[in-house]
Amino acid sequence: MKISLLIIFLTLTTISCSPESDQTENVSQTVYITKSGTKFHKENCQYLSKSKISIDKEVAIGKGFGPCRRCGG
Ligand SMILES: [Zn+2]
Repeated sequence: MKISLLIIFLTLTTISCSPESDQTENVSQTVYITKSGTKFHKENCQYLSKSKISIDKEVAIGKGFGPCRRCGG
């Protein structure tokens, strides 16, 4: 009886552990803002040539920043 429960437990654990690749989207994302701008950018955006301040994307949105038209934020 105990052995069969153990097998069920191990099977459920294996199933729940395997497909996690799609859940990384919800992890907080670092974006970049400039001193004077009102947009946030991806790391390699050309608009970051003057200044580049890293900030959490959720925080940037909370402060009123919007996504850059060029790089999409
Ligand atoms: Zn940009």
